[in-house]
Amino acid sequence: DRIQAVDEKVKAFITLDEEKARNYAKTLDEALSSNDKRGLLFGIPAGIKDNIVTRGLTTTCSSKLLANFEPMHNATVIEHLQGAQSVTIGKLNMDEFAMGSSTENSGFFNTRNPWNTDYVPGGSSGGSAASVAAGEVVFSLGSDTGGSIRQPASYCGVVGLKPTYGRVSRFGLVAFASSLDQIGPITRSVEDNALVLQVLAGYDKMDSTSANVETSDYLSALTGEVKGLKIAVPKEYLAEGVNEDVKNRILESLKVLEGMGATWEEVSLPHSKYAVATYYLLASSEASANLARFDGVRYGVRSDNAANLIEMYKETRSKGFGDEVKRRIMLGTYALSSGYYDAYYKKAQKVRTLIKKDFEDVFENYDVIIGPTAPTTAFKIGEKINDPLTMYANDILTIPVNLAGVPAISVPCGLGENGMPIGLQIIGKHFDENTVYRVAHAYE
Ligand code: GLN
Repeated sequence: DRIQAVDEKVKAFITLDEEKARNYAKTLDEALSSNDKRGLLFGIPAGIKDNIVTRGLTTTCSSKLLANFEPMHNATVIEHLQGAQSVTIGKLNMDEFAMGSSTENSGFFNTRNPWNTDYVPGGSSGGSAASVAAGEVVFSLGSDTGGSIRQPASYCGVVGLKPTYGRVSRFGLVAFASSLDQIGPITRSVEDNALVLQVLAGYDKMDSTSANVETSDYLSALTGEVKGLKIAVPKEYLAEGVNEDVKNRILESLKVLEGMGATWEEVSLPHSKYAVATYYLLASSEASANLARFDGVRYGVRSDNAANLIEMYKETRSKGFGDEVKRRIMLGTYALSSGYYDAYYKKAQKVRTLIKKDFEDVFENYDVIIGPTAPTTAFKIGEKINDPLTMYANDILTIPVNLAGVPAISVPCGLGENGMPIGLQIIGKHFDENTVYRVAHAYE
């Protein structure tokens, strides 16, 4: 009923599993009256970003090319949710193949920010953040390659975590940039977030980059205590380009944490200024390879008026992909071609190592790094869509985290001048989601 009441305006859902949603109350009643052991997410309705494959439920990646794609299997995270008895009721809008920061690159329609429908919900997991903010689902899954969970969470005033690279299986997440992609939960509270990660996390032999490390009890990390905690605040994260109202809210939040017994100091992540360029080279290179599989033969829609095979490939990809996806495929193919490989791809890999080292250096002396999630609050629909470079620059505070592979959360920390939410970003050491959650929970 809630979805029917608000989704006409918000437009978070691409596909609604109508029957499941309708039968929800009935099955919940039945389950409640049985004596079977209940899963951790028993009866909790969830929405899933449409780049995570769901058996028998269309998975489009918001691309016209995959408008009719019905996967034959579930992503590992979907199997985990089912095991915990959560109810997946639909698939959520996003930027096509997760490329974008506003959900305006969806091949189908725009999603609107529930706080003010003239504004974007952020992206690429815009539908995931908006659906939680609008109360359409209790939690959602997003994916974060360069900020796509944290930035929309920030813009919609909800909580979004990008786990450590390797913490959550990517099996069944349609690959954008495999060395950066990670699935994570979007929720209304830190506690809910920890609960969902509890279900998602763990080694998976189906994902060769899944880390074979212990998962911990994330809920037990929520002690409310931050006494003695050492916080680093990178000067690059409060520098020029970050709006005054955003800066002020972050400084106020640091005061709150100080009041609870934490201390903070300014530090430097000196290679931050190269992060956007590095990311857009590496992510586009990986995307150009990953998206080669969408050739009209194996998945989705095939152009049927071609005279031969090559023409069929061309027609399918020309009609199926939107402008941003084509831009990235061209940029990535260029960066990987012989003659340019050393100058661009290889160099970007080297800078990535330096960015990762910046984080390692700071974490030798501090427990967490804190700054804003994004330099501004949500912007208006249409405001940046014709200027890709301005749109890319908006990712400056989220991208370094993916390049380093560390975990980070965005939690709401007040409103900006335009009345839209601001997100506080808390970044942790590799596989230390516990401290990230502890700080976020104490602050919240
Ligand atoms: N906005 C970034 C991009 O367009 C990040 C996307 C993401 O994290 N999936 O690539």
